[in-house]
Amino acid sequence: MSAAARRVLVVEDDKALRHSIVASLKAEGYAPDESGSVTSARQHLTAAAPALIILDLGLPDADGLTLLSELRARGDLTPIIVLTARGDEASKVRALDLGADDYVTKPFGLAELFARIRSALRHAVQMRGAAPIITVGDLTIDLARRNVSKAGADVKLTRKEFDLLAELAVRAGEPVAHESLLSAVWGAQDADIRYLRVYIGQLRDKIEDDPKNPTLLLSEQGYGYRLGG
Ligand code: CA
Repeated sequence: MSAAARRVLVVEDDKALRHSIVASLKAEGYAPDESGSVTSARQHLTAAAPALIILDLGLPDADGLTLLSELRARGDLTPIIVLTARGDEASKVRALDLGADDYVTKPFGLAELFARIRSALRHAVQMRGAAPIITVGDLTIDLARRNVSKAGADVKLTRKEFDLLAELAVRAGEPVAHESLLSAVWGAQDADIRYLRVYIGQLRDKIEDDPKNPTLLLSEQGYGYRLGG
C-alpha cells in the first residue's frame, strides 16, 4: 500500500475509543489521523485526503451526518464507515442514504471494524476504476450521487437495488457471477440467490421498457447477470 492508501481519518470524540482505534490502525500498518470534532475533521480533510474515514455520528460541534453529506454533495467518494449507537436505527439508515459505505454499531470489536475497513477499501478500488457516471442504453447511473435516470427521468431505487445495479454498471457489458453480486451487495454471510432473483425482478420493473423481455439487465444462464452490451 502507498502512504496515501494507508491514510485513515478517525473522527470520534470519545478519547478512549478513538485512541484504541488509532493504536490498532497503526498496528495493522495504516497511517491514522484523528479528530474529535467535525471542525477538526474538515481541517484534516483540507490538508490531506484520506483513503477512508471512520466517522462517529454524535460529535460535540455538529452531527457526523453533516460532514458525510458535505463530502458526498461535492462528489467526494472517500469510503466512510459510520459508528452508530445501539438502537439508533434512524441515524444508521440516514447515514446509508447519504452515501456512507458501511456502519458499525457500538460497542463493537476491533476485528469487526477491521473487516469492514478492508471490505470498504477493496470496494473503493473497484469503483475508482469506473467512470463516476455510467451510461447503458437510455440509462444513466451516477455512482457518486447514487442517482439513476432513464431517458432523462429519475428512477427511484432502494439502497440495495442501487447497490446491485452499481455492481453491474461498473462492469457494464461483462457477465458478473451470482456469487460475486451476492457477496458485494448482501455480504457473504447473508448471501441467498433468491434475494438476487427478487431484486433483479424489481430492477427490471423499474428500468426496462418491457420487464418480461429485458434489453438492459440480461441473464447469463447458469452464471450471473450482465448490464448492457
Ligand atoms: Ca460521540
